[in-house]
Amino acid sequence: MEPTTSRAAWDQAYARVESSLHAAGVADTADLPKLEEVRVRFLGRKGELTELLKSLKDLRLDDKRELGPKAQALKTALEAELAAAKDRLEEASDAQTLNEDAVDLTLPSLRPPRGRLHPLTTTLHSIAAVFQSMGYSWAEGPFIEDEYHNFSALNMPDDHPARDSQDTFYLDGVNRLLRTHTSNVQIRTLENHAAKGKPLRVVCPGRVFRHEQIDATHSAVFHQVEGLVVDRGVGFADLKGHLQASLERLLGAATKTRFRPSYFPFTEPSTEVDVKCFFCPGTGCPSCKHTGWIEILGAGVVNPKVLSCAGWDPEKWTGFAFGFGVERVAMLMHGVRDLRDFYTNDLRFLRQFDEDFV
Ligand SMILES: [Zn+2]
Repeated sequence: MEPTTSRAAWDQAYARVESSLHAAGVADTADLPKLEEVRVRFLGRKGELTELLKSLKDLRLDDKRELGPKAQALKTALEAELAAAKDRLEEASDAQTLNEDAVDLTLPSLRPPRGRLHPLTTTLHSIAAVFQSMGYSWAEGPFIEDEYHNFSALNMPDDHPARDSQDTFYLDGVNRLLRTHTSNVQIRTLENHAAKGKPLRVVCPGRVFRHEQIDATHSAVFHQVEGLVVDRGVGFADLKGHLQASLERLLGAATKTRFRPSYFPFTEPSTEVDVKCFFCPGTGCPSCKHTGWIEILGAGVVNPKVLSCAGWDPEKWTGFAFGFGVERVAMLMHGVRDLRDFYTNDLRFLRQFDEDFV
């Protein structure tokens, strides 16, 4: 069979394919669709290289034998180059997908809302903690109390005005009431320890109830931290020492105190304790009602009648007691003007105290 293509023409065709392959720059193809275009252009059914290979058949036999492997080598090289480029582009595309869908595990997570202690709870704990560090132990007792432990045992006889139902929430009408102070815990502690014949130091923190008209400084439910010390030979000087030390711990080392005579049925003598106003330099402001002093607690030497009533011999034992109003201390410490703010559960109000929580 006569050759229809001359070797020179085939060589030219080969050179064209080789040069357009070179121009196509397979190795630098930017994306997979373009790479496919290149593949079709050279290796498709009518591709340039396919046509070149087909045209081998039109050469003379000895030319065919010589040029066939040359053309085949070009095809093999191109296929290898295409495969390598495809691998590279697929890898890059996978990497890009991973990058776009990536989750940054080092990002801090959203903080779940955290429960916090109420400012009254932290104030109560702060007061109690000062006394606990001075050797007082924590004592609790019932909210629902009988008249004896709430009144009679505290030297408050039947006709005492504090028993009036105007001030006290009575239950069932008789002999059951919501405690009006935590002094009932003092009485129960005194009773429980009378037989032991050992000195006693307790704080009695807790919720108390009074039939009050609710306003900016009064609430029907509020909190007290009362304290009681019974020992041999303790008196008013010890009371002053303990209170001065505890108020300095609670309100700052520069706290100035003033002890005013007062009256409570369960202590004798009794005192009310003021601290120098910490909102003004003692010159007077609305917080101290323009007196320069703020009343902070009531206290006194335990009335011997209270001790003997609870089974302690007042000839051998003496004691002193005091009581903080937690709401009052919290209002003073935080500059809160209206006590009701503590009870309305408004988170905007409560969150102001976040940094105080421990
Ligand atoms: Zn003041």
